[in-house]
Amino acid sequence: MPPGPSGARPECVVIKIGTSSLISAQRPDSAKLDALADAVVRLRADGLRPVLVASGAIALGSARLGLTGPQPDSTRQLAAAVGQGLLFDAFRRAFEERGLLAAQILLTPPDLIGPEHQGGTRAVLEGALDADLVPVVNENDAVMVRNNDVLAALVAALLGAGRLVLLTDVPGLYESDPRQDATARRIPEVRAMTPAVERLAGVTAHGLGTGGMAAKLCAVWIATTAGVAAVIAGADTEDGAVRAVRGDDIGTLVHPRRPAKQPDVGLLWRALSAPPSGRLVCRPEALAVIEDGGPLLGRHFHSRTGSFASGAVVDLVAPGPRPDGAEVVARGRVSVGSAALATAGEELTVLHHTAYISFLEV
Ligand code: GLU
Repeated sequence: MPPGPSGARPECVVIKIGTSSLISAQRPDSAKLDALADAVVRLRADGLRPVLVASGAIALGSARLGLTGPQPDSTRQLAAAVGQGLLFDAFRRAFEERGLLAAQILLTPPDLIGPEHQGGTRAVLEGALDADLVPVVNENDAVMVRNNDVLAALVAALLGAGRLVLLTDVPGLYESDPRQDATARRIPEVRAMTPAVERLAGVTAHGLGTGGMAAKLCAVWIATTAGVAAVIAGADTEDGAVRAVRGDDIGTLVHPRRPAKQPDVGLLWRALSAPPSGRLVCRPEALAVIEDGGPLLGRHFHSRTGSFASGAVVDLVAPGPRPDGAEVVARGRVSVGSAALATAGEELTVLHHTAYISFLEV
């Protein structure tokens, strides 16, 4: 099916599955791969076009190289170079048994966000879907090891997918940590991603929450701000992927924001791909600048909390109570660290207009 007039591909669903949900005893787990391949077959029968984003290259390559324990990035890159083919081979077999052909697509964030590569990346993903192949995406870890949750969200945003499904070992967002509290209640649905939802999941202004959930929430921010619904669901149930895509009550569904203007994928990456590590409290005049998407300067801020380096992601806090009750009005990546901010001159550009997402407009 060709893309709609807005470029969106609602029939396309991006399903991200992590290493622990695909690899057991240092080998591809055929039962888990079969379940995932069956899910793809069922979704295709519903008229959907699944794109898989699957991890496991580093784990398989490490096992083949006999590596144990934490390794430096350069060794992980090498392990990925060994493991990437092993991982894809397992997918290739699983799909061939079902009469389908898998297409391996290795990407890094710059392939998805930079104007010089974006068109080509979108074309190859769409080309694979149009040729009836099953795209199996992974980060090209041999050149750069980052995070597949965020990569999956960028793929979903670039394609204008109908849904992003993040399959994981914590089956959704809970009111308290389900691993410590047996009575923890699952949150089935979130109207829109907000910093309050994020706090609930244990992500604080000082960095990561528990169990990789921080990365998942960054992915949810990116997808839903781009207009793509996101579901965090358990990878342990056999038909979890199918149920999450079909909209059954499983995991946590986060509804998309409906921005008047589709934000650029590169902007989403810069502003939302890391959890906030500090806060800047706005002066009243900053709100109009944020609404207009203008550059934010040192003089637009009254104070800060947390110390952060240049290039960190921070929350911009409203100067006082707002009618909608929202405290955080924007999130973005600072061009100066907190120490420089304290001593910097008035006109210093803190957040250039291309580096923040305003929650006032979406
Ligand atoms: N892409 C890596 C792999 O296949 C892992 C990165 C991640 O899990 O986020 O091993």
